[in-house]
Amino acid sequence: MLGIYIHVPFCEKVCDYCDFRVMPSRSSELFGEYTDLLVREMQGFAQANPGALESAETLYLGGGTPSLLPGDCLVRVFDSLRRFGVDVSRLREVTMEFNPESCNESTVSLARECGVGRFSLGLQSFRSEILERIGRRHSVEVGLRALELLCSQPGIEVNGDLMFNLPGQLPEQFLGDLERLADFPLNHVSFYGLTVAGRTRLGHRIARGELSVDEDLYGEMYLRGVELLQQKGFDRYEVSNFCRSNKLSVHNKNYWDRGEYIGFGPGAHSYFRGMRFNAPEIYPRWREFILNGMPRSGLNLDVLTPDDIWTERVWLSMRQSEGLDLEKLRAEGIVLPESCYAKWVENGCLALESGRLRLVGRGWLLMDTIVTDVLNGYIPN
Ligand code: SF4
Repeated sequence: MLGIYIHVPFCEKVCDYCDFRVMPSRSSELFGEYTDLLVREMQGFAQANPGALESAETLYLGGGTPSLLPGDCLVRVFDSLRRFGVDVSRLREVTMEFNPESCNESTVSLARECGVGRFSLGLQSFRSEILERIGRRHSVEVGLRALELLCSQPGIEVNGDLMFNLPGQLPEQFLGDLERLADFPLNHVSFYGLTVAGRTRLGHRIARGELSVDEDLYGEMYLRGVELLQQKGFDRYEVSNFCRSNKLSVHNKNYWDRGEYIGFGPGAHSYFRGMRFNAPEIYPRWREFILNGMPRSGLNLDVLTPDDIWTERVWLSMRQSEGLDLEKLRAEGIVLPESCYAKWVENGCLALESGRLRLVGRGWLLMDTIVTDVLNGYIPN
């Protein structure tokens, strides 16, 4: 399956914990220029790979803050996709990320008119002191209003994103946020533990001792969060992703299943015809790359070796609840020795059921160690 990802690198303000390459901007000239460049990038790809975009099944607009794009730019992006062969109305899923402060009647209705059917809202917390501490721009009220607006729209799917293990956050506070979110009529929730990057504002504040994160609470928050969502009818299908009624993210699942995808926009990653590649991440360099005709030499490009493919396959399977399909591997002539995983099965961190090896219980907290063990224990020919 092929997915299309469009990266919108702008945010109104950079959050204190954000380690992505985003640009704080509201400049209409910059949005216009970005859209021109994006269209050129899509056109370049469509010309070099005739018929490829026609086969896409999902579209995802992520960022940054896609909901910050002015309406005329958004319309132009969708019109261009159609021009390059993407029948948006027939895609299995069209997702767009929204931040609460730019989620309103007009941005939502325009996105719907363009063909967006799945809205992903970055809420992070329902507590004002925490939003302030991590430098989010929106207030609790604005977050709730955006969520109410999305949940009141008929015929769309909504995802709510939360974060945990934030500075000064107690388990009960996170669980309270999660419960509040799960009580809305939405079918998808994601929650992510904070990763503190040293170069961010939050990283500096933590280094200066102004704020702290209690790493010991991580496991409790994660496991209790999973339990709470399960009680509310959500199934975990990936380490940080939960859905009701089987409404998983088709686009994201394709990444974890090692399906193909094409990314457009600064630094957007692609996996296509056995290669992983991305254009420059820094906006001025990306602009130069596009204006120079998108030379292959400007791409960061990896041709995957069988070893790379094996490593990816194990990592990406194990982060999903369905786990690693040992039967399928066996059919391909790969027999994973029991010694690679036996101790983790014995101590209840892995389960081997119906020919699949999957994380269970506290195993989810030890995913990195367990997967590394499995990989170290076996190297296919
Ligand atoms: S909204 Fe997201 S991408 Fe933008 S600055 Fe905040 S964390 Fe980074």
